[in-house]
Amino acid sequence: MNRVYNFSSGPSVLPLKVLERAQAEFLDYGNSGMSVMEMSHRSPGFDEIICAAEQLLRELMGIPDNYRVLFLQGGASTQFAAIPLNFLTGSKKAQFVLTGLWAKKAHAESAKYGDCEVVASSADKTFSYIPAVGPDMVKPDSDYFYICHNNTIYGTTWHTLPETGDVPLFADVSSSILSERMDVSRFGLLFAGAQKNMGPAGLTVVIVRDDLLGHKMDICPTMLDYKLQADNRSLYNTPPTYSIYICRLVLEWLKSIGGIEAIEQTNRKKAALLYDYLDSSKLFRGTVAEQDRSIMNIPFVTGDEELDRTFVSGAKAAGLVNLAGHRTVGGMRASIYNAMPVEGVEALIQFMYKFEKEYHK
Ligand code: PLP
Repeated sequence: MNRVYNFSSGPSVLPLKVLERAQAEFLDYGNSGMSVMEMSHRSPGFDEIICAAEQLLRELMGIPDNYRVLFLQGGASTQFAAIPLNFLTGSKKAQFVLTGLWAKKAHAESAKYGDCEVVASSADKTFSYIPAVGPDMVKPDSDYFYICHNNTIYGTTWHTLPETGDVPLFADVSSSILSERMDVSRFGLLFAGAQKNMGPAGLTVVIVRDDLLGHKMDICPTMLDYKLQADNRSLYNTPPTYSIYICRLVLEWLKSIGGIEAIEQTNRKKAALLYDYLDSSKLFRGTVAEQDRSIMNIPFVTGDEELDRTFVSGAKAAGLVNLAGHRTVGGMRASIYNAMPVEGVEALIQFMYKFEKEYHK
């Protein structure tokens, strides 16, 4: 078997133990004589899988009882539209902080349905920092206040959440869910595409406070109606059954290694190793304001685009793959999600060290 160290931003590396278990159970799940992929979503066998996935997620994240957990389809991008259709229905005003491409896309989608103010933006410095947001900037009549918690492309994170008072805080946690402790009760809604820390692409998890549901727009498509999905336990139509099964295996794996507290420690260690190296390097440098650095996505450059390309292809040949930065920013980016072992980061640093020795004049 030839497994590489995969630094992809998503879909990204899954724990090897999860893949091996899925492989072992692929043809005959739990003596059912069939693959999970072949099971009815209304069968007791699948019911056990989706209930276990929800229970594990609740336990790992400490999700309070007054929050609903939805397993949906369509990726995080579909939620950019579902959010206004479900919640931009009171004052029809919402507020956004633009910290990168995904926040911009969410804002553009929401703005089709109501008055969506941009409170602050870090576009002036290529989204390399998180702008300051004081409580005085939050309008008390906003239906919600929206942030992208971890900016996958630019490598920034909200280490301190904005204080939004009674205005529900909504956050895209696609690239940070399960990577560090989060106080769910600080949010009205959290959502994540599964393809980074949870499982296969397409599956999307929404965690929403109960009392916010039930006020959708009349034009809201049935499939995007969060209350209907909640009332049907995410089984209104055929859900992405196999992806939910893999998600359950990922959550079981996370629990088995000590849960979020343990993985956060490992994630901080991995990120510190790479940032320390970047800070001491004479060839490479990180591109993000120090206080806003992500522990999941770490962009860096040499300052010479040609050399960046040489690095990415040399790293690939050494079994360190998917290190090119997002097509809109260039340079390099190492995504070091939960399933990336410390050894993977160490191997990357070793390669960078050798590259620096060879190319730094
Ligand atoms: N939000 C964030 C923070 C992301 O990183 C991504 C994709 O990488 C998306 C949203 C879009 O997710 P999807 O492709 O599932 O729509």
